[in-house]
Amino acid sequence: MTERNQGVLYVVATPIGNLEDLSPRARDTLAQVALIAAEDTRHTAKLLSHCGIRTPLVSLHDHNEAERTPGLLEKLSAGASLALVSDAGTPLVSDPGYQLVRAARAAGIRVSPVPGACALIAALSASGLPTDRFVFEGFLPQKSAARRARLVKLAGETRTLVFYESVHRLVESLGDMAQTFGDTRSAVIARELTKLHESLRNGTLRALAAWAKSDSYVGKGEVVMLVAGAASESDGRDADAVLAVLLEELPVKQAAALAAKLTGGKRNALYQRALEITKTQRS
Ligand code: SAM
Repeated sequence: MTERNQGVLYVVATPIGNLEDLSPRARDTLAQVALIAAEDTRHTAKLLSHCGIRTPLVSLHDHNEAERTPGLLEKLSAGASLALVSDAGTPLVSDPGYQLVRAARAAGIRVSPVPGACALIAALSASGLPTDRFVFEGFLPQKSAARRARLVKLAGETRTLVFYESVHRLVESLGDMAQTFGDTRSAVIARELTKLHESLRNGTLRALAAWAKSDSYVGKGEVVMLVAGAASESDGRDADAVLAVLLEELPVKQAAALAAKLTGGKRNALYQRALEITKTQRS
């Protein structure tokens, strides 16, 4: 239960490109609160100036959130309402704000969302991939070995997979996905959503990896990667892809045992398949 004289912490979504996507309620909230905690105050100052809003700003990013949170809670407890925004889209979705929201709720302060743009939802809604069940994986690890290890764990996932990715790692990530999930798996690259050069490109992982290598525009802008889920938890193609990666590092027996755990497939069948793959690789 919220104390009567406490302020409210509004979690406000801002545009991911097109400024017209700022909702009237978000605009009113940003104009009416006492203070806006922003990931990058210079970035948010541009949005506020576009809207003619003069609310003061304070920075709240990954490196100062722990230290800033107690002071912001004091203000809320004293009756000031605050807004939390990030550089683009919905705060806390691969963006700062988790510590503040958690601490505010723990202190009994009302936290209220002002929803709006979110790149993962925008991309999913227009991708043509199944949307009834999906998993958001955020950013993949930057280093190839760690990235491939994460992808191996996801190879048997039957829900649509959504990733944020830097355009600079797009080619590498698509290559690793093709190798791990099987290069015929369907995927979509959603680029520059709501902006002038918006595009959603679909194809197999192999086709998209080839396109990304050859397209000179790929190194620019922002992208969401979406990958169709595995056809079933023991889908043969995906099991092959998992085995191929594991066999690079492990003996056949261990690779088969681990692949069985990861894909839900039968251990004996995977052992036989691993032997076949090893033979093909040697011939
Ligand atoms: N909080 C944001 C949201 O609600 O979508 C996401 C912040 S995260 C730090 C930034 C990543 O979101 C980018 O690297 C990209 O993967 C994705 N993204 C943000 N804006 C985008 C856009 N306009 N088009 C495609 N992807 C975008």
